[in-house]
Parts: sequence; structure tokens; C-alpha cells
Amino acid sequence: MLRYRRRAVVLLVVLTAVLLSLTVYAALRDTTPPQLYVEAPARLPVGAPLALFASADEPVTLTLEYAGGTVQVVEQETTFDVPAAAGANVAHLMAVDGAGNETTYDALVIGVPALEPVLSVVEGAVSGDPIGIWVRGLPGTAADPLLGATVTDVSLTVAGEGVPLRRLEAEDGTAEYRGAVATVMTVDPATLDVDMSVVDEFGRVVTARRQVVLERLPVTVEQLQIAPSVLAVVTPEGRDLEAQTIAAAWENALPDPLWTEPFVQPIEGVTSSGFGDARRYAQGGPVSFHYGLDLAAPQGTPIHATNDGVVVVAGPYPIKGGWTAIDHGDGVFSYYFHQSKILVAVGDVVKRGDVIGEVGTTGLSTGPHLHWEMRVRQAASNPLAWVGKTFP
Ligand SMILES: [Zn+2]
Repeated sequence: MLRYRRRAVVLLVVLTAVLLSLTVYAALRDTTPPQLYVEAPARLPVGAPLALFASADEPVTLTLEYAGGTVQVVEQETTFDVPAAAGANVAHLMAVDGAGNETTYDALVIGVPALEPVLSVVEGAVSGDPIGIWVRGLPGTAADPLLGATVTDVSLTVAGEGVPLRRLEAEDGTAEYRGAVATVMTVDPATLDVDMSVVDEFGRVVTARRQVVLERLPVTVEQLQIAPSVLAVVTPEGRDLEAQTIAAAWENALPDPLWTEPFVQPIEGVTSSGFGDARRYAQGGPVSFHYGLDLAAPQGTPIHATNDGVVVVAGPYPIKGGWTAIDHGDGVFSYYFHQSKILVAVGDVVKRGDVIGEVGTTGLSTGPHLHWEMRVRQAASNPLAWVGKTFP
């Protein structure tokens, strides 16, 4: 009996020792934390799935704490697809194995909000008015390129036609894009669609549409009383010469604006014919719009450059008479017709207010006056709408 009891005790001791050593071995083995491999995005659009990939070397409980939310899964490998939150947030990942060993991983993830451009344009204008259009509120050069989206394209159309844009830094640190058009000259009611499209680095597109209601031009057609001897200056050769001269100047138009201050009226004078007036030069002839503003003034009255620019046309022409054209850059030209004297030459750099010539009655003209035009990418616009403004 005693022998058996002794054996049993020995057996118990041996078993206990084996169990103890096993437990100690297991405990030693389980102090190793799980190895964790993580792939986290650094920047992505707000709302996009995070696509945070985590892989451990053993089955673990994976917990993701991100932007105030917690997601937990028991897997060896998983992809967290919670939506990206705005701004810089730490994605805190914990992997815990069966023995309670923990490995953590922190990744800084930036959720980039969509751009919020604001399209700004007047609601109404008179047919032929120049209008300025702005896309405002885009990131300026001082903006953090990691936190905010980068602009890859800004485009604008008016009535389906593309408008060249210029990027400017605004005073509040944002960037804005501006463009100008001469609205169509028409006697019919018209509404212009202004469409904006802004694309960011992630390919997100923000669009906006505004409408400009145009007040039509007056429909009264004026019959000009011009002596046949004066009308005789209008020949196909004369028209072609003038058209080719200005076309060549437009081909080399300067892209950057040369002016920084408001436009000025070139002479004081009485308006003898308004911009956009409909008229016939010959009895029963075709109706044409007056592309400029006629200011009557005595012969020899000094004419001032409406703004800074470069002279691109200067000389006597058959219909426009003594003609000067100034390229102000950014698609804006000014024209001056019928001068008795031209005091500048092609290539001259002129400043706002410089005297460039004198009033006369050369070319197709019935008395001393200045015919003044303001063109936006060749389209005529109301000159008076520029006076006192740096941009329409
Ligand atoms: Zn005129």
C-alpha cells in the first residue's frame, strides 16, 4: 500500500514539474509581441476609404482608433476602409495576441478637403459692356500644400467660349483667377451662361454656373449723312489694309497686363455718337454697330493714352485716318481714329495719360472728333465702362 502511495506522489511531483515547465515555457514564448506590418496613406481626399492595410505574424485582435471612431477585428490581416476625415489625424493601430501582448503603430493621415472656389460675376450688364469674371477662394502660395488640395486646372466659359484666365494672389492669402470678356453686341434680349470648372490633384471637379442678363442695345437705326466724297475713302483695298494691320498686331498681343491703375478717358469732349449705336453709312445700306465712342473736340486737342501699354499701330490709314492702337496686355487694346497728328511710333512704350496724338478729322469722318475703342481679344466693348476702373 505504502509503495503505491509513494509511487503516486512521485508521479504527481513529476507531472507537476512537467506542467510547470510547460507553463513557464509557454509564458516565456508568449511575451513576444506580434509583429505588425502596416501600409497607411499619407494624404487622401476627405471621404475616400482609408485603405489602411495591417498584417500581423499571428492571429490578433486589431483595433484602429481614428478621428474619434474605433474599429476592431480579429484577423491576422485586414484593410480598414473607414472614410478619411478632414485634416491631419493620427491613425492609432493596436494588435493584441492571445497572450495579451500588444504592438502599436501610429500613422499620420491627412484628409484633404475639396476646393471651394467661388464664381463671381455681375448679374446684369448692357450689351457690349466688358465684364470681369473671378474665381476666388483658391489656395494661395502661402497655403500649406499638404493640408489643402492643389489646383490642377481652372477653366471658365462664357456662352460656351473659353476665357483666358490670370492667376493673382489676393490680399487675404488666397489665390484668385480673373478673366474679362466684351459681351456680345445685340439688339435681342440675351442671357449669357458663365461656367466654371476647377479640378484638383485628386481629379475632383467643382463646377458652378452664373447667368448674366444683357440689356439689349437701342434698336433705333441712325442714317448717317456722309458726303459721297468722304464715303469714297471706303474701298475694299483700304478695308483689307486696315484689317491686316490690326490682325498682325493681335497675333503678337502681349499676354501679361501692362497696366496697374484705372483707365482714363483720352480726351474731354462731347459724345457725338455713342458706343453701340446702330447706323447706316449709305441710304439703304447695311446696319452696323458703332464699335467705339465718338468724342467731338476741336482740331489739335491732345489725346491721352487711356492706360499703360505698347504702341502697335501708328500711322495714316484710309478709313480710320490717323490711327493709333495700344496693346495694354492681357487681351486689351485701345484704338484712336481720325487723328490729325500722331506723336508716337510702333514699339513705343506709353504710360497712362501720355499725349499720343491730336484730334482731327482724317479718314471716314465728317468733323473733328476722336473715335475711341476698347477691345477685348478683338471684340469691341463699351469704352466708358472702363473709365475709372482697373478691371471691368
Ligand atoms: Zn466713331
